[in-house]
Amino acid sequence: MSLIHSIVLPESFRASSNQQYELNIYRGDLEHVKASGNKWHKLQYHLKQAEKQSASVIATFGGPFSNHLHAFGATIENLPFKAVAVVRGELQPQLNASLKDVIGHGVELWPTLRSDYRLAMGSDVVRTINERYDNVYWIPEGGGGELGALGCRDWAEQIDLLDNSYDAWVVSAGTGTTAAGMLAYKGVPSLHVVSALKGADEQRAEILLLARQLVINKLTEECLTGIKSNHSDSLENKLFFHANAHHGGYAKHSHELEQFIQEYAVDNRHHPLDPVYTCKSMFAIIAAMKRGEWPYSRTLFIHTGGLQGWCGHSKKKNPFLSA
Ligand SMILES: *Cc1c(COP(=O)(O)O)cnc(C)c1O
Repeated sequence: MSLIHSIVLPESFRASSNQQYELNIYRGDLEHVKASGNKWHKLQYHLKQAEKQSASVIATFGGPFSNHLHAFGATIENLPFKAVAVVRGELQPQLNASLKDVIGHGVELWPTLRSDYRLAMGSDVVRTINERYDNVYWIPEGGGGELGALGCRDWAEQIDLLDNSYDAWVVSAGTGTTAAGMLAYKGVPSLHVVSALKGADEQRAEILLLARQLVINKLTEECLTGIKSNHSDSLENKLFFHANAHHGGYAKHSHELEQFIQEYAVDNRHHPLDPVYTCKSMFAIIAAMKRGEWPYSRTLFIHTGGLQGWCGHSKKKNPFLSA
């Protein structure tokens, strides 16, 4: 099965643009049926580290519709670890569809007070879990950090091996870990990163910092084996960060965005976008094409998954359902 498909620009975006754009999508959402998109990749080095530390329990955090918790459950299901998830907020007596899947993969759920959840590794719930179980390996919320980013650097390499002829890649960001990992891959073309969060203006610098860290570690390795590279210097020029494409903030939709999703789905019903991240990124770059502000002819959009997130929305909002 090929994972690179072409996207049809929605009608009203086509009309006003006289430039020809080729827009393809890398269907990361189709790679692992149960653990779709970037979250599987972000987990890989964490799992290796847990094994190295002979952990018996792996624990992590997430909201009640978290793509990370969903992928965590599916990825860890057949591995020899006990899985624990701290869920933000109190659990409803009737679990939502997303958490039902998580439980179905054998993950033990721990509800929290929101105020305690915010304390992350300093929370009471973490202390309680560490007292209850021996040798717990903790993965940060969203699978982030340097280990999460390393998995995404490997992912970028796998994608690039399929077709390395693009002028630009587009990827969605929450924490920016995925973007940092991709930026650290030396074959990456211009990388456009679209944040799904409000107030992410500072994030460009954080992505750059994390990517540099990965590259420098890699360079140290390469120096030992005698290979030279100046990849680190060019990171700054390859990174384009879009902080104003959030449509009101995390998990929020503007009317304009909803219209776009409906229109996009007319011709791209078989390439569904998720409701939190990829819909905003796709809108941002197709709108840039319409304005004539997209200087690339061949673009690859990296689908980071998250389609299960639609279960937090009413069915009539999801135009991809009948696909
Ligand atoms: C989590 C997630 C992201 C954001 O990934 P970060 O590494 O936190 O930037 C993007 N897209 C989807 C579908 C996600 O689930």
